[in-house]
Amino acid sequence: MSVPCTPSISRRDVLRLAAGAGLMVMAGGLIRPAGAQAAAAFAAPPLPYAENALEPVISARTVSFHYGKHTLSYFENANKMVAETPLAGQPLEKVFLEAAKDPKLVGLFRNAAQAWNHVFYWEGLKPNGGGAPSGKLAKAIETSFGGLEACQKVLSEAAVTQFGSGWAWLVAGPEGKLQVVKTGNADNPLQEGLKPLWVIDVWEHAYYLDYQNKRADYVKAVLEKLINWDFVAKNLG
Ligand code: FE
Repeated sequence: MSVPCTPSISRRDVLRLAAGAGLMVMAGGLIRPAGAQAAAAFAAPPLPYAENALEPVISARTVSFHYGKHTLSYFENANKMVAETPLAGQPLEKVFLEAAKDPKLVGLFRNAAQAWNHVFYWEGLKPNGGGAPSGKLAKAIETSFGGLEACQKVLSEAAVTQFGSGWAWLVAGPEGKLQVVKTGNADNPLQEGLKPLWVIDVWEHAYYLDYQNKRADYVKAVLEKLINWDFVAKNLG
């Protein structure tokens, strides 16, 4: 039986053949039909509550802009950008962590990380939140900070002193010890090997319509009335 030999084929040949067949070759050698819309890689989850559910701490107007415009735009941009990279098809978390290492993918990193950060932020809030955690989480807070009040103070200071746009996070370190870190712009503690447990958005779009320049009032109200300790406990595991 004769076996047809396979000639070596150059990238230029691949591009020419693909174009003739109506296909598009993407970065990394992935091929999909030209003009076909790639399935949206990342689906933005709906808000976990009504737009007005966080009032009076965060107004429906703020949530409407913050979720409906900012959060959804990050998803939309990340979907467009990832489609043309070898990271297409990977989970959101992997995409932003990989994109963070490649200066050429800075736009994808920013949008994918912001998409992730915002979903985490919305899930970390709930109407009639606040109060005190219990069980393993309460114990971890006691061990790591000396108590809930001290933990809230450190979180609040980080949120208030983050210079410019960014985030303040409660995280678990490699030994399971809890700590507070702040990050600028889109950065996420996962980039440093820390496990996020909760976050507060301190970009101005998160509070300016309701609190103007009084970021500290926004932070205090969120910590007292909206923090979802069940979400934090679930993340601690
Ligand atoms: Fe935001």
